[in-house]
Formats: sequence, structure tokens, C-alpha cells
Amino acid sequence: MEEEIDIYENQADQEKAPKSGMRFSNFVLAPHDIGRVEICPASVVFTGPKAPMHPGQWHGIFIHRFMQYVVERGRDAALAYIKSKKQKYVLELCTRMDLSTVPMDGIPEMTMTINTDTMRGETIERDVAEPKTHVAMRADIVFRTDNLWHVGDYKTGKPTEADVLQSVQMLTSATALHLMEDDHPDVYASLIWIEKTGNLLWHTKLIPSAVLRKHAKRVRRAHLLALEIRDEYKQEGCEPEYHPGEHCMGCRMEKTCHVSALRKVA
Ligand code: SF4
Repeated sequence: MEEEIDIYENQADQEKAPKSGMRFSNFVLAPHDIGRVEICPASVVFTGPKAPMHPGQWHGIFIHRFMQYVVERGRDAALAYIKSKKQKYVLELCTRMDLSTVPMDGIPEMTMTINTDTMRGETIERDVAEPKTHVAMRADIVFRTDNLWHVGDYKTGKPTEADVLQSVQMLTSATALHLMEDDHPDVYASLIWIEKTGNLLWHTKLIPSAVLRKHAKRVRRAHLLALEIRDEYKQEGCEPEYHPGEHCMGCRMEKTCHVSALRKVA
């Protein structure tokens, strides 16, 4: 059973900071935790209540669901699902979407893990990964290109020049696929921008196995670091360090972290 804690050190802090909903959590690490734990240890020890979703996020979720159902059930069934959501903008976008480049033989919404004990990649059913041995992620679409694995991530909003090789999420998903095969191959990775026109804009890179091997070591180091910090807190009561910054955005504690909150007050 998880324990409620009060991390505020003094009354002044308690008055300035929002009421804490922070609690210890042994969550399974995801790719977006990797860069953050390297900077802020506390980010992998606690979680807070989830921030409420804004309309743009719901649009993104429905569009991703549409792309999943297109492959699993076909376009008509996917559109029927979107119609039921009564989101005019999303329905219009999905209706005009050019699906000609979608790999219909791919696996949508594939949940994968990197087992940092065995350094193997695995596919799993949703939400059954073990926090002590797994870093887990979900890929929007996985398929084969030139007999190699290819992982794709759908992006909504304005396309950017974001580089696949700079994306920890893409590198980690590609590394999971790389570690699934005995010969540890190169892996294709694509950021697939869904433009307002309905066009799909693919940014694809072939990630060499040497890059993936190096990234696998980074994933393992970050995971071991997270386990160590959690153990120090749980077993010895050592308070983790807090280092706020731009990476606070998207942190599980973004809304309740006393350090992040005080930084905004200052
Ligand atoms: S909100 Fe910022 S300072 Fe607080 S735990 Fe998360 S990353 Fe660290």
C-alpha cells in the first residue's frame, strides 16, 4: 500500500505551495522520464494528481485512436468511432485524411519494454510491466521496411523540424525493437506529422545499431539511477534532490511539486 507523505519542510513553504497531493510511487519508467531523472531525481520518486486535460489534448487522443482503428478495423469503422465523439474539428480532419501512406499491415499501439536486467526488448500486454526490471513505452505504429523494424509516432499540431535522432522517445522505442532481435539490427524511426490539410508528413531516419547500443546503455543507467533513488527514499528516508527547470513541464508532479510551485511564485 502506498503511503501519503508530507514533504514540506517548514510552515512558510506550506503556505506558499499548493496543497500537496504528492505520493511515493513505484511507477514503470517511460522514455520521457529518462532525460528528467538525469536532471531531477525527485521526478521518479513521487507522483501527483493528473492535470486536467485541455481540448487540444482530447483532439490528439481521438486522432491517435482514429489512426489505430484505421489499421485494426478499417476506415469506415474508425470514422464511425470519431462521429460518436461529436468533435467537429476532429471529424473533419479524419474525414479528409490521406491514408495512402499508412502501413495497413503494421501493428498499431504496440506496448514494448526494455528489460534492463536482461537487456532484451519485449512486447507485453498493456500495463503489466514490472517497475524493477522494465522501462515501458507504447508505439503508435510498428511495421517492417527493407526487412528492418520501423517505428512511427503520430504528431498533431504544427510540424516542426524536430529530429528523430534527438528524440528520446523515438530512440527508446527503436532501441526496444533493436533489442528484440538476436542480431540487433538498425531500426527505422519516423515522426509522422498529421497536417491540418489531412496530409501525413513523414520525417524518417534509419538509426544505426551503434547509436541504439549507446542509447540502450543510457536507458539502463537512468533506470538503475531511478531504482537507487527510490530505494534510498523508501528504505533510508533520504529526501531526493529537486532540480526545477523546463523539464518540469510534463513531470508527474508538475501541478503539485513544492519546488516547481515556489519557482513560479518567486
Ligand atoms: S516538477 Fe520539476 S522540480 Fe518538481 S519533481 Fe518534477 S522535474 Fe523535479
